[in-house]
Amino acid sequence: MENLRPETRAVHPPVVIPSGSRPFTTPIYQSHLFSFETAEALTGAFDGPNPDGSGFLYDRYGNPTAQAFERAVADLEGGAAALTTGSGMGAVNAVLMSLLRSGAHVVAQRCLYGGTLVLLNDLAERWGVEVTYVGGDDPAEVRAALRPTTALLVLETIANPTTQVVDLPALSAVAREAGVTTVVDNTFATPLLCRPLEHGADIVLHSATKYLGGHSDVLGGIVVFADAELRRRVWTHAIELGSALDAHSAYLLLRGLATLPLRVRRQSDNARYLAERLTGHPAVTRVHHPSLPAHPQHDLARRLLPEGAGGVLAFELAGGREAGRTFTEALQVALLAPSLGDVKTLAMHPASTSHAAVPPEDLASAGVTEGLVRVAVGIEHPEDLWQDFARALDKV
Ligand SMILES: *Cc1c(COP(=O)(O)O)cnc(C)c1O
Repeated sequence: MENLRPETRAVHPPVVIPSGSRPFTTPIYQSHLFSFETAEALTGAFDGPNPDGSGFLYDRYGNPTAQAFERAVADLEGGAAALTTGSGMGAVNAVLMSLLRSGAHVVAQRCLYGGTLVLLNDLAERWGVEVTYVGGDDPAEVRAALRPTTALLVLETIANPTTQVVDLPALSAVAREAGVTTVVDNTFATPLLCRPLEHGADIVLHSATKYLGGHSDVLGGIVVFADAELRRRVWTHAIELGSALDAHSAYLLLRGLATLPLRVRRQSDNARYLAERLTGHPAVTRVHHPSLPAHPQHDLARRLLPEGAGGVLAFELAGGREAGRTFTEALQVALLAPSLGDVKTLAMHPASTSHAAVPPEDLASAGVTEGLVRVAVGIEHPEDLWQDFARALDKV
């Protein structure tokens, strides 16, 4: 239309869509709404955006910046498609809530992320979902746990805090035979160290907040699917749940991804170095890292995680609870903080912090002892980290 007045022109400035050259990165698409040339195109967009970048409608259904991150992680994991969420728990919720119903049965690894365990308990209490917990290393135990109503097998590649490595190929093969979908939380391993879809999983998810983002400045989650139909089922529920990732966060996650291989390799090497130095220290009774020959799944880790056993380690102090607190407070380079995946080294003593409310006799079932310290190793120089640790160990 011609001769529009300033009030109208101010509201309708031209929208610049570059052509002839390409932006170097997918920009932050700070437009949660898209307009269409035809009613038919708008109607079609309610089915969600297409992988070719067409059909964007409304951010809760999908955003171009988020799609760039989805495509990048799907590629790294070897999946057919991916779905971003606003947090790792958003990813866990989107998967469990979309694929379970009242009366459905889940076989889950005992040593899962705390938030996932809380959610499973909640689904059991309020929605009648039934859960059987298994150890994570015995396919016969999984087979025995299966029921006609079993819908999901839920596992973690490397579990917190004792770095248990789950036998993905053996356990997912049992699930596959029975038509059960295997879901693997691959947050600790990242697709650089392990790609669960190659070992028989159907769905892989991440708290992207951790290694994928890598700098503790963004919250996000992602789910990767072996086939696109499974993505559709989860996406259909995710738009009801409202678990979408926002474009700013997607941009930071994409940016983090570029250095993921460098960071994870360094974190994994640093963790192995610290685990080796801690082994045999007089104040330390036990060290948990899959790279150590004494680790219960060391051989499995060498097959499943040939490029490195991850940046998280744990160790037990002879001095128990008091020593754990003293050690983590005496660190000067490493920071006293929960979480993991940061470029900085983070240390935490669960018995005096995250598990402070758990009675001592119940700690063991969570894999926690009174003197256990968990370390999420960063990318600092390993010698500086060891000196920091050695100084703090002198104080316990
Ligand atoms: C942190 C974490 C989650 C939850 O992720 P958020 O981004 O905090 O919601 C899920 N699984 C594992 C293994 C985690 O470490």
